[in-house]
Amino acid sequence: MTKLLPTSTAGSLPKPSWLAEPEKLWSPWKLEGDALTEGRRDALRLSLADQQQAGIDIVSDGEQTRQHFVTTFIEHLSGVDFENRETVRIRNRYDASVPRVVGAVTREKPVFVDDARFLRAQTDQPIKWALPGPMTMVDTLYDAHYGSREKLAWEFATILNEEAKELQDAGVDIVQFDEPSFNVFFDEVNDWGVAALERAIEGLTVETAVHVCYGYGIKANTDWKATLGEEWRQYEAIFPKIQASDIDIVSLESHHSHVPIDLIELIRGKKVMVGAIDVASTDIETPEEVADTLRQALQFVDADKLYPSTNCGMAPLPRTVARGKLAALGAGAALLREELSA
Ligand SMILES: [Zn+2]
Repeated sequence: MTKLLPTSTAGSLPKPSWLAEPEKLWSPWKLEGDALTEGRRDALRLSLADQQQAGIDIVSDGEQTRQHFVTTFIEHLSGVDFENRETVRIRNRYDASVPRVVGAVTREKPVFVDDARFLRAQTDQPIKWALPGPMTMVDTLYDAHYGSREKLAWEFATILNEEAKELQDAGVDIVQFDEPSFNVFFDEVNDWGVAALERAIEGLTVETAVHVCYGYGIKANTDWKATLGEEWRQYEAIFPKIQASDIDIVSLESHHSHVPIDLIELIRGKKVMVGAIDVASTDIETPEEVADTLRQALQFVDADKLYPSTNCGMAPLPRTVARGKLAALGAGAALLREELSA
């Protein structure tokens, strides 16, 4: 990016109410068959238009083509039984009904590549595509086959690498891996989590990002956050390892969170997508608030490496709120850009 402070979102945006039940995770589709395929693509175009209207520089599909950021990917793999689901505790926090791994996992065909090609055809702007990270995938299913989180993560990393390379060929500019579980399982992150992530990006020539957040603004997450105390220092345990990795960009949560902003110093040298939008509140930030959060981050990241973003995905928010937040992000970044060029 040659433009200073290029804006993007962490990932998901709300779906239209004719496509899926709004303000809900894992919301079931309201359409079927060809109508669903067409509906998802129409929603993608609307989501893209919302981002463009708000002045977002690096655009995405708003995750309109998937029901959930992890399970939709897993459900496309063989070796997975998603009919006889199992209830597991996700990130030690909440129970969810998830698919079961019952045999060797393989990717028989591309998962998101056609959708990425469709998005590419809609715009000349840089596009970012989000995939689940290997550790978060392992944490969002029931394993009845491998018996080792590390071994399964390695299998997923190999599969993700195949998908990422095809997304690159489809014209995606940044491939992002979502690893919210990095904020929970520190020992595993340092033992094999970052190594698995590096396996997933092996041989890629496009830029790569890892998104590590405190989750969507759903009750289980806000309850968990309430137990974390005054200062959220989770990043401190994992940033040194990420800093030493081949990942180009780190997407993190900042605005209204209790993350001490100086922890960004630990990833000095990386590009940083700083969350300047709170996704756990329906209050719409002012451009000044956004600029203020970004200004604080500038103490710890060089201006040419600062990428204004959202704390996490906005899928569970009302669409009008998400649109307002997108506009605030675009306007806040523009304010600071003006200030820096003065
Ligand atoms: Zn997130």
